[in-house]
Amino acid sequence: MRIRPMKYVIAKKASTHGVLAKVMAQTSIALCLYSGANGCFALSNSAKVPILLYHSASEHVANVNPCEYSRNASQALARDLETIHQQGYVVAPVPWIAEWIAGIRNGSTLPNRVVGITFDDGPDFDWFDSQSRCSYFTTTKSMRRILQEFKSKYPELFLDFPYAVSFVVGSPKAREVVGSHQYNVDLADDISISDSWWSEANHSRIIEIHNHSTDHDHPSIKQIIWDPALKLNIAVGGYGDSVWAGQGRFDRIDSEEESRLEVVNSAQYIYSKTGAWPKLFAYPFGQVSSYLQNVYFPNYEYEHHTLAAFCVGDQYATRNSSRFCIPRFTHGDDNWNSPNNLTEILIRAIDPNDSPSTSGNSSYNCTFGPAPTWPNPPCSTGTSSASAPAPIKLDILQIILPTLLEE
Ligand SMILES: [Zn+2]
Repeated sequence: MRIRPMKYVIAKKASTHGVLAKVMAQTSIALCLYSGANGCFALSNSAKVPILLYHSASEHVANVNPCEYSRNASQALARDLETIHQQGYVVAPVPWIAEWIAGIRNGSTLPNRVVGITFDDGPDFDWFDSQSRCSYFTTTKSMRRILQEFKSKYPELFLDFPYAVSFVVGSPKAREVVGSHQYNVDLADDISISDSWWSEANHSRIIEIHNHSTDHDHPSIKQIIWDPALKLNIAVGGYGDSVWAGQGRFDRIDSEEESRLEVVNSAQYIYSKTGAWPKLFAYPFGQVSSYLQNVYFPNYEYEHHTLAAFCVGDQYATRNSSRFCIPRFTHGDDNWNSPNNLTEILIRAIDPNDSPSTSGNSSYNCTFGPAPTWPNPPCSTGTSSASAPAPIKLDILQIILPTLLEE
């Protein structure tokens, strides 16, 4: 483990506007310094953190209106970033939030109101602009462009705001069939799910690449397929039960061998493309394999090197969330389908009378899969194995030059 200074510095535009904004931001920091241990830069141990999940391919799902906020992730993200900013939140890097939940990052290195942003499945729409399905004459902005434009609009904000995670599928063969309208009946047209942008993204400090399994156990995989890049057969679940077609049932991964093939082999491929080991994992379809959560992830860290795993469930992430099932809110019909819905989620997060668990819908609707017809396992809210450190007093050096712990 090494420690390096975090690039947590004020954006530095030489323009008059930039200088003014910088002064305002620094004034804001100074005011925060006098607001006590729970001021602007200290995430309390009892904080509730909304972690948001978008599917940038949602516009390409068949039989939906691609122009609606609830069906267009690009449009929604642009609106939501403004809402998040207006409500006084900062989009923090998701790995930092995971470290805070795991008990290895102190809340004093995070703002007191943070949101995490994640994208699932890794279609090229995360990184590249595309022809809009809403209008022939317009372009759908990539999630990258939305994030970059927001950053440019508010240069006074910190360098790492906003910063998102894209969970990608490792197997090129799996991505090929999942993106094919011929095999994936949920799609309105063919889409590209390539790995051509992973390396650039991982060095962008705006989107970071992490692990969404080898093959997603996606039902578009109709028969056994040899993947020469990963040197294994998909769907990987077949190694356990000899059913070699994707079942849309990631919870059927219930053995050491299947877990290793779904997590480690995918991570190795991502590493070969990005040069960085993906230390975060997101369960496909939000289906939490009990074996993965309770046996493989806690006991085989020496081989998978996974810090945390994300599920879904219409709940806030807290320091008591299970490290291997950190809940997320899903954009669309599932958890929020309007700017007002998101505002409610953000306001509830700072309401001391609101429970981290909500009574809302805990089902999941993955862009690339059928709606599950079985009960979705709820996210565990067990206690993290690592004890949460006590809050520490704010120190100006920790705010201006906090440190980033890296493996
Ligand atoms: Zn997915």
